[in-house]
Amino acid sequence: MKIICIGRNYAAHAAELKNEVPGSPVFFLKPETSLLARGNDFYIPSFSADIHYECELVFRICREGKKIEERFAHRYADAVSTGIDFTARDIQEDQKRKGLPWEPSKAFDHSAPVGSWIPLDAFPDPGNIAFYLDINGSRVQEGNSGRMIFPLTRIISYVSGYITLKKGDILFTGTPEGVGKVSPGDELRSGIGQQELLSLKIR
Ligand code: MG
Repeated sequence: MKIICIGRNYAAHAAELKNEVPGSPVFFLKPETSLLARGNDFYIPSFSADIHYECELVFRICREGKKIEERFAHRYADAVSTGIDFTARDIQEDQKRKGLPWEPSKAFDHSAPVGSWIPLDAFPDPGNIAFYLDINGSRVQEGNSGRMIFPLTRIISYVSGYITLKKGDILFTGTPEGVGKVSPGDELRSGIGQQELLSLKIR
């Protein structure tokens, strides 16, 4: 399986990192080794002094497809949760300056914790899914799928024009504003609506 991540999908987050709002989805990949088993702690890697959280809605791909038309794209995801796109911001900023690939800052081990899945058919409107991230009891990020620049169906259609989607792949759909640094001892809790789906401790 693979993890496909969308960057710059919320205008206010693009602005906080001083990035332009893209004309088509920006995507990158994380490998299977970036998953973090539920219930495990996240250990800050030694190569970065500035690991940021990015809380995102994540969708589970339920069937294989390529060059999927947007009008059929909703059939290709069956579950939703929240996840954290951990990012070594110091390394990423350096890579962006030099025009280098992002993998060392984005695709490292355990950089993609994903919460418990909720069937997507539990949501009457996939364009109105609210999610949150709390750190040490304070709300730091709030998002809603309705504020995405590119909705899920557009992302599935666009990405599948380049890469075949397979059952079990996971799609991170971008972070809203409010990203920041994590420190040892922090407790992250995120979920959809009022329902907590993911909790982890930073070490
Ligand atoms: Mg992200």
